[in-house]
Amino acid sequence: MATKFSKDDQMTPEPDRPPVDLDRIADGVRMILEGLGEDPQRPGLKETPRRVAEMYAELTSGMREDPREHVVPLPGDKHDEMVIVKDISIASMCEHHLAPFVGKCHIAYIPREGRILGISKLARLAETFSRRLQLQERLTTDIANTLFEGLKPIGVMVVIEAAHTCMTLRGVRKADAKTVTSAVLGGFRTDPRTRAEAMALITGRE
Ligand SMILES: [Zn+2]
Repeated sequence: MATKFSKDDQMTPEPDRPPVDLDRIADGVRMILEGLGEDPQRPGLKETPRRVAEMYAELTSGMREDPREHVVPLPGDKHDEMVIVKDISIASMCEHHLAPFVGKCHIAYIPREGRILGISKLARLAETFSRRLQLQERLTTDIANTLFEGLKPIGVMVVIEAAHTCMTLRGVRKADAKTVTSAVLGGFRTDPRTRAEAMALITGRE
């Protein structure tokens, strides 16, 4: 019998992206250099377009990966207490300025039926979503939603603290300014006490 319900239907499919066109990025970088009044042929700049293209390809490698691959629960555990992984380093790229933002990602979740995720998988999940053109808000909810859908825990909370170079290097320079975003799902959303407990553990305040 045909059924309309399949588990995969509930997840947003990853777009099929073409491979990175390094030559095209390099052409664009050459135009930026010309726009700055530079000579892209001078020795110091000759290899710059190619280098920048390779750097952008690396910093956006997560656009061509499926983050759901990293949500593979470890079998056979009976752990049902809150799990918190703090200080996962992230480096992402602000899609408004193509400038990096770097910081820390903290992930808390309450397992259901003992389903937990290895710490390296959590870090890979955060990395895959970071290595894309991003907004910090979307990065935060992407990580939380994917974990919530894949692991089916009781609750998920993701907090990201990051410094945006598009902000810290320009205008009124606020070198230490950090943006904090959070995404709260499931039990963390419905139970303020659990949420407060997780937040206290994440921020180190009681
Ligand atoms: Zn920006």
